[in-house]
Amino acid sequence: MLIKFTEEQQMIRDMAREFTKNEIAPRDKWMDENGFDYDLYHKLADAGFMGINIPQEYGGGGGGAIDTAIIVHEFAKGSASEAAFLDAHWMAADLVLHHGTDAQKKTYLPQAAAGKIFAFGLTEASAGSDAAGIKSTAVKASDGGWLLNGGKAWITNSGVADFYIILAMTNPEKGTNGISAFILPKDAKGLHIGKFEDKMGLRGTATCELAFDNIHLPADALLGAEGAGFKQAMAALDGGRISVAVLAAGLAEHAMKIAKDYANERVAFGKTIGKFQGIQYKFADMSAEIRAMELLAYDTAAMKAAGVRHTLEAAQAKLFAATRCTQICLECQQILGGNGYSREYHVERLVRDAKLFEIGEGTNEILRMLIGGTVLAKK
Ligand SMILES: Cc1cc2nc3c(=O)[nH]c(=O)nc-3n(C[C@H](O)[C@H](O)[C@H](O)COP(=O)(O)OP(=O)(O)OC[C@H]3O[C@@H](n4cnc5c(N)ncnc54)[C@H](O)[C@@H]3O)c2cc1C
Repeated sequence: MLIKFTEEQQMIRDMAREFTKNEIAPRDKWMDENGFDYDLYHKLADAGFMGINIPQEYGGGGGGAIDTAIIVHEFAKGSASEAAFLDAHWMAADLVLHHGTDAQKKTYLPQAAAGKIFAFGLTEASAGSDAAGIKSTAVKASDGGWLLNGGKAWITNSGVADFYIILAMTNPEKGTNGISAFILPKDAKGLHIGKFEDKMGLRGTATCELAFDNIHLPADALLGAEGAGFKQAMAALDGGRISVAVLAAGLAEHAMKIAKDYANERVAFGKTIGKFQGIQYKFADMSAEIRAMELLAYDTAAMKAAGVRHTLEAAQAKLFAATRCTQICLECQQILGGNGYSREYHVERLVRDAKLFEIGEGTNEILRMLIGGTVLAKK
């Protein structure tokens, strides 16, 4: 590996690996069938994972981009849902960390570190890829506060979150410079939370529609400068894409491990199927691709940790990891033959989970536009 983990990072990895083995992996099938696992969330919060990204002065672990990547990577080897849950929480809490006033940081970061769940709300039913087209509005109220109207769709952790970071138009005439971010508590009057979405995969994460009916927010609910919300959200997505890349690497490894155990046991034509060259080639390609996913993702995490702009690299890492993860999961399903089609053997669940990563946090098409445009514009 180009990136050498520090001793502390190796400890974080071992702790996350142990937690995944003992607590997360055994619950993944249950979550697929039953939804968000509150017991597991409490264990995860008690173990301190919710605040790893938050500075110690606010009660967190003081971890950086590589530390969080390590944890998401390890969690995803046991459950993509649990890794995605934690990542969505960190991403939203990070917005307070990077753009909040001192008072907002003192109010919200200790709560995020202690286990209150955060969610990041950009997408709406009519605006996903075209994020600048959001219709939710926040209008100044006579008392200096804000009146929030509109709604959001597909927000990870919605329905279980304690706080939402919501992007809304404060000045539609200014386009993306008229979008601002707000901190919305779950008990705000006028916040209506719809039923949980019946999703194809990542069924252990909670996803609902949110409706905002004239919600009154105090003036200090505004996060960062008025009109800065779009830039804040795009920067948050750069970090989120690193997480999706390591998550996809971990998920692909999970699938390959199941396929490997199967290939070493299943007998056909008098041999274990792993002895056939046609099956070995699949493992050659999958293992090389997983290594490439890890290298791209950790290299980009190192850029983020060093404070280097990583918009292009995060998009590349996410595009590569997400597309290959889906294909690897499908290949692993193929290795299991008929059993790959059965819920009992787990790989079919991983196939369903994997697909989301080609859609969320920038679809393949949007990332290709971003990457292609950037590469072509480079001198
Ligand atoms: C399970 C799940 C969890 C999610 N979690 C969150 C979350 O926590 N917070 C949040 O804000 N959002 C979240 N999302 C939303 C997600 O980011 C959007 O679904 C995604 O950005 C795509 O937007 P859309 O669904 O509106 O599709 P659309 O934007 O309508 O796109 C539909 C299709 O058209 C393609 N397309 C669109 N524009 C172009 C173009 N210019 N050129 C070529 N092709 C194009 C897209 O690539 C896609 O294939 C989540 C989504 C899911 C499914």
